[in-house]
Parts: sequence; C-alpha cells; structure tokens
Amino acid sequence: MQAHDGMYIDGAWRPAAGPETIEVINPANGTVIATVPAGGGADVDAAVRAARGAFPGWAATPPTERAALIGALHDQLEARREEIAATVTAELGSPLSFSQAVHASVPVAVSGSYAKLAAEYPFEEKVGNSRVLHEPVGVVGAITPWNYPLHQIVAKAAPALAAGCTMVLKPAEDTPLVAQLFAEAVHGAGFPAGVFNLVTGLGPVAGQALAEHEDVDLVSFTGSTAVGKRIGAVAGGAVKRVALELGGKSANVILPGADLTKAVKVGVANVMANSGQTCSAWTRMLVDAERYDEAVRIAAAAVAKYVPGDPLDETTRLGPVVNAKQRERVTGYIAQGEKEGARLVAGGASAPEGYEDGCYVRPTVFADVTPDMVIAQEEIFGPVLSILKYDDTEEAVRIANGTVYGLAGAVWDEDEERAVAFARRLDTGQVDINGGRFNPVAPFGGYKQSGVGRELGTHGLGEYLQTKSLQF
Ligand code: NAD
Repeated sequence: MQAHDGMYIDGAWRPAAGPETIEVINPANGTVIATVPAGGGADVDAAVRAARGAFPGWAATPPTERAALIGALHDQLEARREEIAATVTAELGSPLSFSQAVHASVPVAVSGSYAKLAAEYPFEEKVGNSRVLHEPVGVVGAITPWNYPLHQIVAKAAPALAAGCTMVLKPAEDTPLVAQLFAEAVHGAGFPAGVFNLVTGLGPVAGQALAEHEDVDLVSFTGSTAVGKRIGAVAGGAVKRVALELGGKSANVILPGADLTKAVKVGVANVMANSGQTCSAWTRMLVDAERYDEAVRIAAAAVAKYVPGDPLDETTRLGPVVNAKQRERVTGYIAQGEKEGARLVAGGASAPEGYEDGCYVRPTVFADVTPDMVIAQEEIFGPVLSILKYDDTEEAVRIANGTVYGLAGAVWDEDEERAVAFARRLDTGQVDINGGRFNPVAPFGGYKQSGVGRELGTHGLGEYLQTKSLQF
C-alpha cells in the first residue's frame, strides 16, 4: 500500500530525524504492506514547536471559521470512505463490510457533529455580573490505539481543533496508514500549517516523548489502562491536563423480563464485532438462573455464524485479531479459562483450521464463569464471551459492578423503566437499554479505572477548553 516516508509537520510531509522504520503487517496473512518512519524525540519536538507556533493564530480564528474547516474535513473523510475502509481492513484485519459500515462511517458522523457544534457552541456566556470565556487549552498531544483507528483520531482531533487547540498526533504503530490518510484529509481541507501534526512511531519512544514534552498543555490518551496510568502520572507530575480513555469489562445484564433470544443474539454480535477488539464490548453476559441454560444454547448457536474468514470476502463476519502478540494474549486467556474450570461451549485456544498463517482466534464462548475468575475480571480484547449466572437483581448488580472497570454495559427488560432503574445502579459511563443505538454526540468515557474525561458531543469539546471569568 502507498505510505508517506515522512512526518506531517507544519503543513508538509518532512523526512524523519532518524532512520528507524515500522513495518505495517496485514494480520490476515502476515504480509508486510508498507513501511512508515518510527519517529523519536526530535520529531516530536519539531511537531510540538509547529503546533505551538500555530496556536495563537488558530485560537484567535473565529469559531465559525474553525467550524467551516471542520466541515471541509468532514467532506474529505466522506469522499475518501472507500480508501479509508480498504486501508483499515489491510492494517487491522477487520472485515471490509465492517470497515465500510463502522471504521469509515463513524468518523464522518463525528466530524460532522463537531462542524455543527463548533458553529453553535457558546464560547462566551454571561453569568451574573461576569463574562465567562471558554478558551482553548493550548497544544494537545493525542495518543491513539489501533482498534478503531480513525474513530479514535477523529474523536480527539475534531473537538480539539473546534475548541481552538493545535495538536500533535501519535497513532498506534499497528495502524499508521489510516492516520496518514487523516493527515492528508486535514491538508486537503485547508487547515493552516502547524494546526495539526502527525508523528508516527513506537509508544515507549514517540508516545512517551509526546506525553512528557514540557510544551504540551494537554495529553489525551486512548489505550490500555496500564499505559494510561503511566501517562496520568507523568501529566499529574507536570500539572498538565489529561484525558484517559482506557479499558473495559462491560456487563450485558439480561433481566428476567427481557426478550432472551434477542438479548443473547445482540450480545454475541456485540462481542464478536471487530474480533472482540472493542473497549466497550459487553464481554460478560449476566443471565438469571432460570433461563441460564437456554441463554447458553442460544449463544452457542449464534456464535457458530462467526466463521473466521478472509476480511476481503463480503460474507466474512470475523477477521483476525490485530497481530501475533494479541493472538497469543487472547488464546492465553482462553487456556486460562479452561484451567479455571469454565465450560467451553464454543471455540477454543487452537488456531482455526486453514488460517494458521493469519492472526486468527476462534470465536469462543465460556459458560459457568464465576465472577472471581481471571476471564471475568481482566480485559481479553478478543472474540471471547463469558456467560455468568445470577440468582436475583442484587447479585446481578454486585457482579456487574465487581471489576476495576466501568466503561459501558447493557441492560435488557421489556419494561424499559425497570431497565433504566437497573442502569442507574451500574458504576459505568454508558449503558445501552434494550440494544440502544450509537449516538455520535452522547458523552463516552469511563467510571473507575476505565478513564478520566469524556469524548464526543459538547462534553468532548469541553475537555479542550479552559475557563476564564471577567467580573464587571
Ligand atoms: P496501548 O496502551 O498499548 O497503546 C495505545 C497507544 O499508546 C499507542 O499509540 C501506543 O503506541 C501508545 N503507547 C504505548 N506505550 C506508551 C508509553 N509508554 N508512553 C506513551 N504512549 C505509549 O493499547 P493498545 O493495545 O494499542 O489498545 C488496546 C487498549 O485500548 C485496550 O485496553 C482497550 O480497551 C483500550 N481502548 C480504550 C478505549 C476507550 O475509549 N476507553 C477505546 C479503544 C481502546
């Protein structure tokens, strides 16, 4: 695939300071599809300097002009949907149909929402005898993961730029190509030089240099809780603003009044989507004791439809996981589940037949999972569902809230108000009632160790603003 051999800094593609590179690998077959530069401290420094230089002018640009440029960015992303979908499929391995429907489409919706919001947002308001100004925080360092690679970039860049911040992006090393496409879209939209900058590179090198850079005012990180804790500590030490979108172990609570078949089928689909590599996936299904066996039967039948396949085949619903390390990690958890005494009702740790060259994991369902098992506590980030049993509502609440995470979840009950009453008791940032629907302006983010701050909509914009009040 086509790739830039430089960094996008100060409005142009520039050679990297050092010779190091990263090979981009297609996880469906192990082939190297491109090579991009692996930046270091000098590249990060040049990018931060460009962002700092552009900040005063961009911050002073009227919000309606910033909104118009975000609208132009939206149009660029819209026009390049097919190229974006093909790129994400090649570097992440997600089925092409999923890349088209989700990876290429959600960023269009999110950038469109910020074009509108930037034009309407009250950047100044009157509070009693004060005028309150909502001003951009400054230079943003954005660090993003590979699982929804363009969405996670847009969920940071669109609000940051709408707020009047300038930024440096360090995307995940597995998916740098779609980040380069995003930089091309920014360029095509006509943003002033230096407002957006891209440095590709390794997390502990380029990512760390960005998080620690003294001229970065805000670090916005999406990724694992382990790295997030480190970034939070670095930012805290420098009294920098920080936003953390981290891992999850979300519960799908099927109450006795739910449509069981629908709830189980949608629950399975939610976990298998993107090969289980979704931070908000409902990886723990909670079912009442009376209907437990029936739920396990429905889940085992539903998962049989997720036959691993070539991501480019239109009928494929389950592609590989992102890389060999992730495959080892996920199959390690499957082996751990078996060792702990969970009952394997579908899938398993062995590679699916015929797909030994790719990073494939069999779609797996465990029954008889108890809340204390490792597979019920830790984020697996693969196509693995655990089904747990509860005796009454109190126990369901206890199990659902019984992990260190609190990112998302689901509650099912034909009586919607009963479902809402249950959702109020969940320590989690987002709950889908009877399936819900993606809302690009609803705040998204975690309780507990799932994160700090919110993305999307007005809450997402607020992360990039600081407040000044003038008294009269
Ligand atoms: P990761 O933490 O390893 O990497 C995320 C990003 O951080 C990458 O760009 C990486 O290069 C960088 N990084 C790694 N080490 C770093 C360091 N020492 N300093 C600075 N940057 C560093 O996570 P991952 O494996 O890429 O992504 C999977 C994780 O992301 C999962 O835990 C998932 O739940 C989480 N996630 C959370 C959300 C959310 O919104 N809450 C969304 C998607 C993914």
